Amino acid sequence: MSPLQTKLFADFTDRSIQELAHQHGLDYVDGVGERTVFPTEDALHELRQFHEELPAGPVPAREVIEQLQRYGAPATVNTAGSRYFGFVTGSYTAVGAAAKVMSTYWDQNSALAVMSPICATLEATVEGWLRDLLKLPEQTAAGFVSGSSLANFVGLAAGRYRLLQRRGWDFNEQGLNGAPKLRIVTGDKAHSSAKKAVALLGLGMANIEYVPTDDEGRIIVASMPALDDLTLLILQAGEVNSGAYDDFEQLCDLAKAAGAWVHIDGAFGLWAAAVPELSHLTKGMDKADSWAVDGHKTLNTPYDCGIVLCADRTALAGAMNSTGSYIVVSENSRDGMFFTPDMSRRGRIIELWATLKHLGRSGVASMIYTMHERARQFAQLFGELPGFTVANEVAFNQVIVHCATDELTDAVLKNVQEARECWAGGSLWQGRKIIRISVCSWQTTEADVVRSVRSFQRAWEKEETSK
Ligand SMILES: *Cc1c(COP(=O)(O)O)cnc(C)c1O
Repeated sequence: MSPLQTKLFADFTDRSIQELAHQHGLDYVDGVGERTVFPTEDALHELRQFHEELPAGPVPAREVIEQLQRYGAPATVNTAGSRYFGFVTGSYTAVGAAAKVMSTYWDQNSALAVMSPICATLEATVEGWLRDLLKLPEQTAAGFVSGSSLANFVGLAAGRYRLLQRRGWDFNEQGLNGAPKLRIVTGDKAHSSAKKAVALLGLGMANIEYVPTDDEGRIIVASMPALDDLTLLILQAGEVNSGAYDDFEQLCDLAKAAGAWVHIDGAFGLWAAAVPELSHLTKGMDKADSWAVDGHKTLNTPYDCGIVLCADRTALAGAMNSTGSYIVVSENSRDGMFFTPDMSRRGRIIELWATLKHLGRSGVASMIYTMHERARQFAQLFGELPGFTVANEVAFNQVIVHCATDELTDAVLKNVQEARECWAGGSLWQGRKIIRISVCSWQTTEADVVRSVRSFQRAWEKEETSK
């Protein structure tokens, strides 16, 4: 054995190294309620500790871990806590984190069943659970990917494969050169990741046919162009600012009649289908062909966890198998790599399975409905405050607010971010600057909402008194 090997062996079984990491991690969890929501200026300044040359030789394990603890932990954004409302960002449950810790030690490769029977089994089980929870067609296949950006890409790749194959064109073999021209139709509020998927697929963003949307960002059905059997139609379950849902019932009927492929980007919003009080939002979504949804947003699994779902199992397997030959999808075991672009993949299914098993059907519904109630509470409290206007119908978990002018909205948001009691981001909506509030953590309580709205109120008063 080399001296390094001897050292690595000694560390590998040295429980104190792992216990140190767990201790630091658990201390972090203890502090989540008190910690500022965004790192302090001092913590950000200390990130200079990481601007260093690669060490010439080995550094002791403890020293590496301590550097992370001392300078890394303070520079984290407190998304594990209860008052982070930026982008669309979930926390995690105790079980999700614990399962992830176990998966770290197992370090499984989910590519093939023979590489990890446990991951293949959990993937098959969760595939069935998702069909059931989201009320999707019986043969629907799931690919467990890193997030909805990739899930959008994969769902559209399955559509591209199938539409061209119906025209006698093998995309895997022949590619796009000389292929029948595919059309991409979507609303003018489509998420940037859907457009990026179109770019990555080689279809060209300039070729996207945008359909006008209404005040909430929903496709206006009467404005839809005629569709055909070479059209990929991209719909949204949860517009990223307003949280609005397209009319799946009508739009899927139009698409089906024309032979088009429908993909629904439901990164955070698809989960409404699992909540009895909210499932009217996703009515008709089961008529689509593919769906993208995240575990790491609304479901509050740890990062990274996204899922592509595809009703056409062989289209998904065909698109993800570059050999172009007929795919034999095994009855008895599930080879994950047939449903994803990657081969080697970490066992992210472990924490997804654990989260779903832990919450159960009613737990998923209750956790998500509570987020909706907190979003409505935000809208109600803002509605009672001078200086703020709520600019959307709170369909799901997203609230849009703005102040009297764009300048004031920007200034108030900056004050809120600097106060660090909560965090929200800005965006543009229907031509004006807005503040987006996304309730996506199971932890957010009524008191958190009250406290956060007070922070907004103080931020606004600061601007008013300085006039
Ligand atoms: C977040 C989001 C995505 C991208 O998902 P990632 O998991 O971040 O890759 C796509 N669409 C919508 C509507 C989103 O909110």
